[in-house]
Amino acid sequence: MRAALLHGPGDLRIEEVGEPAGEITVTVEAATSCATDVKCLLYGHRILGPYPARFGHETVGRREDTGARVLVGDSVACGRCARCAAGHTQLCERMTWVLGGFAERIAAPAGALHAVPDGLDAAGAAIAEPLAAAVHAVARAGSSARAGARAAVLGGGTMGLMLARLLHLQGCDVTLADRHEERRAQATALGAHPVEVLAPGGFELVMEAVGRPQAWRAAIEAAAPGATVVLVGGCPAGSDVTLPSGPLHYAELDVRGAFHHTPAEVDHALTLLADGDVDWRAIVGATIGLDELGEALLRPNTGEARKLVVDPRRQAH
Ligand SMILES: [Zn+2]
Ligand SMILES: [Zn+2]
Repeated sequence: MRAALLHGPGDLRIEEVGEPAGEITVTVEAATSCATDVKCLLYGHRILGPYPARFGHETVGRREDTGARVLVGDSVACGRCARCAAGHTQLCERMTWVLGGFAERIAAPAGALHAVPDGLDAAGAAIAEPLAAAVHAVARAGSSARAGARAAVLGGGTMGLMLARLLHLQGCDVTLADRHEERRAQATALGAHPVEVLAPGGFELVMEAVGRPQAWRAAIEAAAPGATVVLVGGCPAGSDVTLPSGPLHYAELDVRGAFHHTPAEVDHALTLLADGDVDWRAIVGATIGLDELGEALLRPNTGEARKLVVDPRRQAH
């Protein structure tokens, strides 16, 4: 079968490889791309195995044994470590990562699989993985994400757009900041007020979805006294983040991180997509074959924020 293999930073090849080995084999119908894949390609990533490594972690296909359509969750928590025992399975100390969606077939533990609701497209179901991370991040905001709250999302990438939609569904008054006009238009369609830059001090809830030290700082500066700030975008390893101490102390800001998701949040995300509460067509873009993946991941990140869909059944032309 054909698969995308990373041989080192910047070295992506599409190769003929052996069948994947694992509990359940899934024939891939769609694997969506995200910023993590670009990081995996350019710099490597702590969740990748040794090179040559398979990647792609937002994957939907058919089980070869039963024919059922499934989302291949990208992780399985051990269920036994201290963090799992405390209920934080998203932070499991011995997480098994399930990567390799950019391939004709992927093998996965049964525990990673989620049933896809009838009628939901493969590409739409694949974004349940990142949407589950957005669901988790909004849960981290707790009661700050209440109806009527002045909420801001910093960053109009696909994660920021999904966060804005979820906050809108909860009844928040949502402002989304992004410097790209096209992404501000996408935010409007999802129910948010678009701005280029967040005004300082005005928001009861700020969700950061950029993943740069400057954005973490801007998120804190946009928060009103007593507000909650949720940091969703991970800063690159080694980033030296200097946070403004005045607001943190005198304005009693509640600053929280949000990482990954739980299996229940993945199922919830699938339901939101199947019911149309989150319109996956607003987030998903062009479909490509495996051969176009390397070039597509390196394309400049401008214009609308949309996930690529890799359909490994498509042949190069
Ligand atoms: Zn992702
Ligand atoms: Zn664990």
